[in-house]
Amino acid sequence: KLHNTIQELKGNIRVFCRVRPLLGPELVHTDGVISHINFPDPDGKVLELDKLTEMSMNESAFNQTRRGLSKYEFSFDRVFTPESTQAEVFEEISQLVQSALDGYNVCIFAYGQTGSGKTHTMEGGLEGGETKGMIPRAVTQIFQTARELEDRGWEYEFNTSFVEIYNETLGDLLNSSKDKSAKLEIRLGGKDNNVTVTNLTSVPVTSQDQINKLLKQASENRAVAATKCNERSSRSHSVFMLRLTGTNSITGENCKGTLNLVDLAGSERLKDSGSEGKRLKETQAINKSLSHLGNVIMALGNKENHIPYRDSKLTFLLQNSLGGNSKTLMFVNVSPKEENFSETLNSLRFATKVN
Ligand code: ADP
Ligand code: MG
Repeated sequence: KLHNTIQELKGNIRVFCRVRPLLGPELVHTDGVISHINFPDPDGKVLELDKLTEMSMNESAFNQTRRGLSKYEFSFDRVFTPESTQAEVFEEISQLVQSALDGYNVCIFAYGQTGSGKTHTMEGGLEGGETKGMIPRAVTQIFQTARELEDRGWEYEFNTSFVEIYNETLGDLLNSSKDKSAKLEIRLGGKDNNVTVTNLTSVPVTSQDQINKLLKQASENRAVAATKCNERSSRSHSVFMLRLTGTNSITGENCKGTLNLVDLAGSERLKDSGSEGKRLKETQAINKSLSHLGNVIMALGNKENHIPYRDSKLTFLLQNSLGGNSKTLMFVNVSPKEENFSETLNSLRFATKVN
């Protein structure tokens, strides 16, 4: 009951933190032990970060770390440790996913620096098995529940789109035709003031297999773009959208919901302050849209009258799914590497601000 009240006050916004494990070569110098991140709370809601000295903040000297005495402490709705499995993480979001079938618009974001585990969390291994991420698990659950609801007269239709936002320009990750020149523009229209995107591919889906194929296609489309622009996938947001339309043949009820799963662009600051041209423009676009996203979520949390959706393509695109009849969850993904300390601190601070 108390929990519900807190959720209401927060306007249906929750923040989960996930710390990825050390991997392969990263284990060599550490024996696999993450030295500066602690999980002191048995309920899994607190993360502690040892304060490091100025010297260790200098990334080139991170091996010479000397620890300060005090700690930064961060509380979230849930903290996942490096040992948390994809299944355990999904368990905590399955209710939220389910509410899309009840007509809610659900947004799930992954925020964090490049290499912190956003794509692992959202997509995971596309071959299936335990490494499957939130997108395939969410889809599996939705299809399964929809089948169960058939007994009560519900029949659902599902349509999916996959959008990339790079440098404030939308791309269609499911457009497999040669002609990619059709412009994607966000429009507000209809009596409900719904957001639509001109020329965006929307694929009717009925099975998990189909979705898996679409995910592979999208990731190939991103890879093709990446050869033209190095590391593009980490410099762009990707938005997986599943629209659900339900009609009940017994009661005559209708319901519409959307599930949006968003793998955000890497939140890292520009290392080389002398960067110019394309790289600088990219980074400015990312910083701007991530801070706009933070502003929108904060404005919603504070129940402000004016929500600045229009300030960036990402929030404009998701306008119907942020606020109002919607539920929002943000994963803040962090790396356990000591050299990533200052980015980790930045990410945790951002996430605390929107929480
Ligand atoms: P990002 O999308 O934030 O740039 P990735 O999801 O690509 O980061 O993760 C970076 C690397 O770490 C990948 O090799 C990924 O497989 C691995 N990884 C991330 N999170 C986990 C995890 N929880 N368990 C195992 N490996 C992980
Ligand atoms: Mg990624």
